[in-house]
Amino acid sequence: MANIISGTELASVIKKDIKQETDRLSKCGVTPGLAVIIVGDDPASKIYVNNKKKACEAVGFYSEEIALPADTTQKDLLAVIDKLNKRFDIDGILVQLPLPSHLNEKAVIGAISPKKDVDCFSPFNVGRVMIGDYRFLPCTPAGVMELIKSTGIEISGKNCVVIGRSNIVGKPMAMMLLNESGTVTICHSKTENLAQVTSQADILVCAVGKANFVTADMVKEGAVVIDVGINRNEDGKLCGDVDFEAVAEKAGYITPVPGGVGPMTIAMLMKNTLTAAKLNASAAMKKTGKK
Ligand code: NDP
Repeated sequence: MANIISGTELASVIKKDIKQETDRLSKCGVTPGLAVIIVGDDPASKIYVNNKKKACEAVGFYSEEIALPADTTQKDLLAVIDKLNKRFDIDGILVQLPLPSHLNEKAVIGAISPKKDVDCFSPFNVGRVMIGDYRFLPCTPAGVMELIKSTGIEISGKNCVVIGRSNIVGKPMAMMLLNESGTVTICHSKTENLAQVTSQADILVCAVGKANFVTADMVKEGAVVIDVGINRNEDGKLCGDVDFEAVAEKAGYITPVPGGVGPMTIAMLMKNTLTAAKLNASAAMKKTGKK
């Protein structure tokens, strides 16, 4: 039976450290601030935004939710971002995705100042991850890296397979594993003989979005299996991409859903916001000549 890697426990340790650092910063007059923009009434997005707000409260950040109607125009949304870019009390700006279809997601993300792009979705910050010279890492893959590292297993030299090639999960995930010297294969919907590829993986990251997609025959004995997927099964229960019960019999380590990657994504968002606050504070001090 695999060891279960608890994202809930690891995230709580990370958030405790962030809270301590925040307390230290507030003594110097710096309170990290996160603005979350939500457009429309998507119920799942509302839950995610609420979780982010709660996490901010728990670590001592200032947070602000900007809820805009579903028919908000591109121009109005860009104007909101522009104002937030200029505010000194806001260190991080996040636009909850997906946006209503009339809005241009790329242009909206591109409008966030790279210094405040705590989701690390902007082309500038993604490029920095690509060359291994970054200030922020995208939250979900960063959380996955922490989960893998918590097992004590070296990534260097290992066969790492990522299923999924989205810009927010699969691609940066592969890049981060490569930055740690993993031998990385990216699979997607056009991959042939998927099970043959995945069963070579010492580390398998699944980010597909289909319940029970990864079955035991696709997994190598003793592998580390990280399940990024968030789905509902036929009973309406939250589940990942991995057939947990069967794969846990074969894997060495496995993350559950819920309680795996999800809480780590939020912890990494808090970490990025703290980093942004420190960078912004030191830039402001430089401007005023304070030490
Ligand atoms: P996308 O839908 O953008 O990407 C899914 C990927 O899966 C695509 O690259 C697609 O390939 C690939 N895929 C689909 N079908 C197959 C198949 N039959 N064989 C192999 N690959 C396949 O999703 P995201 O990357 O945004 O998210 C993936 C999952 O992770 C979702 O369930 C999402 O809810 C969850 N998620 C969880 C987070 C967390 O915090 N836990 C955060 C973000 C996402 P192709 O490119 O060829 O279409």
